[in-house]
Amino acid sequence: MIAASAKRRLTLLGATGSIGLITLDVVRRHPDRFSVYALTAATNVEEMAALCREFNPAVAVMADADAATRLAETLTDLPGTTVLAGETGLVEVAAATEADTVMAAIVGAAGLIPTLAAVKAGKRVLLANKEALVMSGQLFMDAVAQSGALLLPIDSEHNAIFQCLPAERVRDLPGAGVRRILLTASGGPFRNHTLDMLRDVTPAQACKHPNWSMGQKISVDSATLMNKGLELIEACWLFNTRPDQIEVHVHPESIIHSMVEYVDGSVLAQLGSPDMRTPIANGLAWPERVDAGVAPLDLFALGRFHFERPDTDRFPCLRLAAEAFEAGGTAPAVLNAANEQAVAAFLNGELCFADIPVIIEHALATVPARAADDFDAIMAADRAGRDEAQAQIQRLNGRRSLTPC
Ligand code: NAD
Ligand code: MG
Repeated sequence: MIAASAKRRLTLLGATGSIGLITLDVVRRHPDRFSVYALTAATNVEEMAALCREFNPAVAVMADADAATRLAETLTDLPGTTVLAGETGLVEVAAATEADTVMAAIVGAAGLIPTLAAVKAGKRVLLANKEALVMSGQLFMDAVAQSGALLLPIDSEHNAIFQCLPAERVRDLPGAGVRRILLTASGGPFRNHTLDMLRDVTPAQACKHPNWSMGQKISVDSATLMNKGLELIEACWLFNTRPDQIEVHVHPESIIHSMVEYVDGSVLAQLGSPDMRTPIANGLAWPERVDAGVAPLDLFALGRFHFERPDTDRFPCLRLAAEAFEAGGTAPAVLNAANEQAVAAFLNGELCFADIPVIIEHALATVPARAADDFDAIMAADRAGRDEAQAQIQRLNGRRSLTPC
């Protein structure tokens, strides 16, 4: 029996997304352990209404004001659920005393302010929204230290690394005797594409990941290797280390989710089926374990694992991310903003796949990196990175009007 006080009450930021729905799948399996205080989404009223009917949250937030009005109209027969709107609503449920745990699963920079509100309120924060940490690195980790929030990584690689480290030494790798982190990458759907082939890939092809089913933005990031670049920065902040202590290993099977190498030669790995229910269940229940509904690993059926070095000539985004981290200050916020703009343009058919790194490199070279002293500086860098990327996308489109891609 679990004591009533041990039952976690959750705010789920980004409930209608890939991570949000998988989180609810784990929650659904353990009604004795987890309950939902608040659900949030951007615009999808229909999906949100269905989730509210199933999980009966006290609060439902739509980031979009019109969507909030429509949700309130749809839920008139559900008086227990209050509907809020906009960023103020997101911040309110992220910091609410009624919830002890916040799943940060909004995609992109839009997640920064609400995720930070959860951190500042000292919650157990399950971090899927890597962009928030990439943008604001030091300030984010300082806020964690000040509030005493418990930050648990949900990204499968970071959750794997977390599981391979002693719990009390997660941010003291030398003290833990760690030599380096081996960060695994699937290599994405275009791992074997030549540079020429990369020019012709479509959004539909980019969104079809060989091993994982994810939201559109992270799927494109996986295809460009920017996801690994963001994860490299994420790992530096989470584990208080530097890019030269982390080596990316392309491992196409996505079974080993990352490894930690110790000075005595031991290499600890976390393995599992590529199913986000495992890291999510780990974050929800930590330090305990709960059944996540994940199929057991059949190593006999898998047979072999493969490893190769990433190719940063074909996939420059990984190099750009490492450079942005080294440049420091607001450079990672510019990198992230330019990437978000470029990915959105690619998904809209306004940019070739191979031009995504071109846009990001241009923004990094053009927007001066400043000290990231406060969140205003981060938000200003985010805006400047987006503006510069958008202007460059339009320039490229002007030049390419006769010969697209
Ligand atoms: P998704 O696109 O499937 O879902 C995004 C969620 O955020 C949705 O609920 C959407 O309504 C909400 N949202 C979007 N824009 C918003 C805005 N402006 N304001 C408020 N809410 C907004 O994305 P996802 O794949 O679930 O990824 C979510 C986060 O988790 C990303 O940061 C991603 O990098 C990270 N992540 C995802 C996976 C995965 O397997 N999908 C794995 C590791 C990390
Ligand atoms: Mg990952």
